[in-house]
Amino acid sequence: MEISRGSLPGGQPDADHATTGFESEHHALPGFEAVARLATHALDVPLVALLLGDGSAFWYATPGLQDALPLDDALLAACRGIARHGVAETVCDAREDARFLPAGANPAHATVGFFACEPVFGLDGQRLGALFVFDRRPRLALASAAQAALRDAAALAGTGAALRSYLSRIDPSTRLPHRGAFFADLGAQLAHGSGTAWLATIETAPVARFNAFVRAMGHAYADALVRATAERVQAWTTPGMQLYMVAPTRLAVLLPSAHGAPAPVQLDALVAALREPVDCLGVALSLQPGVGLLEVEAHELRGGDPLRRAMNASWIAMGTPSGWAVYNRSDDERQRQEFFLVTELAAALSDGTELELHYQPRVELESNRCVALEALARWRHPTLGPVSPSTFVPLAEQAGLIRTLTDWVFDHGLAQLAAWQREGIDVRLSLNVSSIDLDSALASRLAAAAVRHGVPLNRLELEFTEGTAIYHNELTRSTLVALREAGVGIAIDDFGIGYSNLDALRHMPASSLKIDQSLVRGLGTRRHDAAIVRAMVALGHELGFRVVMEGVETAGVLAAVRDMECDEVQGYHIAMPMRGAEIADWLRQQAIHDEASC
Ligand code: C2E
Ligand code: MG
Ligand code: MG
Repeated sequence: MEISRGSLPGGQPDADHATTGFESEHHALPGFEAVARLATHALDVPLVALLLGDGSAFWYATPGLQDALPLDDALLAACRGIARHGVAETVCDAREDARFLPAGANPAHATVGFFACEPVFGLDGQRLGALFVFDRRPRLALASAAQAALRDAAALAGTGAALRSYLSRIDPSTRLPHRGAFFADLGAQLAHGSGTAWLATIETAPVARFNAFVRAMGHAYADALVRATAERVQAWTTPGMQLYMVAPTRLAVLLPSAHGAPAPVQLDALVAALREPVDCLGVALSLQPGVGLLEVEAHELRGGDPLRRAMNASWIAMGTPSGWAVYNRSDDERQRQEFFLVTELAAALSDGTELELHYQPRVELESNRCVALEALARWRHPTLGPVSPSTFVPLAEQAGLIRTLTDWVFDHGLAQLAAWQREGIDVRLSLNVSSIDLDSALASRLAAAAVRHGVPLNRLELEFTEGTAIYHNELTRSTLVALREAGVGIAIDDFGIGYSNLDALRHMPASSLKIDQSLVRGLGTRRHDAAIVRAMVALGHELGFRVVMEGVETAGVLAAVRDMECDEVQGYHIAMPMRGAEIADWLRQQAIHDEASC
């Protein structure tokens, strides 16, 4: 039998529940079984049905009697028709009632002998549907006590229906309307209002962080946190704005049709309120909120995914000083592209064929010899072409892929170093490492790769950026010390663009300082750069580091750095990064060139 929504006898939820095109949740009718059971006892009937105007139908049959009862499409259609009129009715002999008996059917085969119904009203007196009782055999009219019992049952069913419609919109932990309600209301507003609507979404905490709260403090804390945030947003709203809980850490506000975009000053006030530390269950916490704004047009509702787009703006807003941002298609495209790249990078890492290492020589100025090669990761995507490491390394860091990338670099770089050693090429290999790699496992990861490829650790150097190297904690320091003790060189990369704490620099267990190319490139053209770089070289030497100049692009810059007595140079003027197989040739040509110039 086809029932559009509701429960089948025995309390089974109906599988065929109509969808609206928006996300909706099915809720059973609270208390229906109890009401129906009472009605079967009070009226001595085997079957009770509740039909509501939204198309849902709920059935209850006395256990053991289901099979003998006429649950079919014809009965459902007949009840729908009666429920629409919404008047109380009792038919003592329904065998010849045309509503239950299809045209031409024999009354001897009638399945309904008796029925009575009472209209069901909601809490505001609005008619919601009707409650029915059935019997197979004709009966006498209901006694007044039975009639009163049917009325009471209908009143209780109305309360249950009101509760169900409340529950179908409300998130139980925050008691705010949920995502299904948001889409229903947005749809209604777009259909009946001006055809566009503004919405604001509020990201309270990244999901990973939220999950960390739950792990550390339990669900009660997380619920209290979301409630506290929701209260602040609620306090910010003005009449006509509706607040929704659209995901565990996300709220949305639907602005009334005539409202337009909220003013910057209003948004600043919302962000300021959300940035105030939240004290929940006695634990104070500061959130990093992001408020995203989007104007939706009616035609974008289906397939346009307005919530996703608004959330994209709030995600971007989280990282901005203002904490709010209006949706921007190009940011969205960029994020989608990043997501695409991350999945592609994960595939490239497991496949390995699209990744390659290039090597850029580092030349010692005193001897004019190549003393080290820096391994630089290269990724050639089959359709996008080359993707720069400045793009994919940060993505790998964000997506939890950086250790896999670093291990891949260790493995391939050390295999290449072993091959050069077999050819008699004696160089050190310098490998870039992310701050995320910097933990107690790093030394053993590198040592394992060195053993696998048979290369000594003292031919290796790890490059960390200035921020990583200087500001990390005691654990970082002890990791770096362990590496140094094993003979691994440590280079502070891109030095000079961060804000180094010189005292921390003094205590760094590093062996080289690589001065950032942005400072080096300007030598000879920008007046102050020379003074700054000269001071850095002196400082590096004073602290016992070898000083390497990155970004030596021209002969003029090379002359300038030679003058500064730095130790090594690296840059396009010396050599471009190249494939491992090209290094031997390059070294040979260098040697010929050196001999010629002697
Ligand atoms: P970096 O470690 O500072 O590497 C030097 C970058 O400068 C390289 O860019 C190199 O190609 C480029 N370069 C070298 N000489 C010159 C020059 O004379 N002028 C200019 N303008 N640039 C020069 P690349 O290969 O694009 O790498 C960019 C950054 O990506 C690297 O900066 C490093 O931070 C990161 N990276 C590269 N490979 C890896 C890797 O395997 N692991 C990690 N964690 N990071 C990597
Ligand atoms: Mg580097
Ligand atoms: Mg660098």
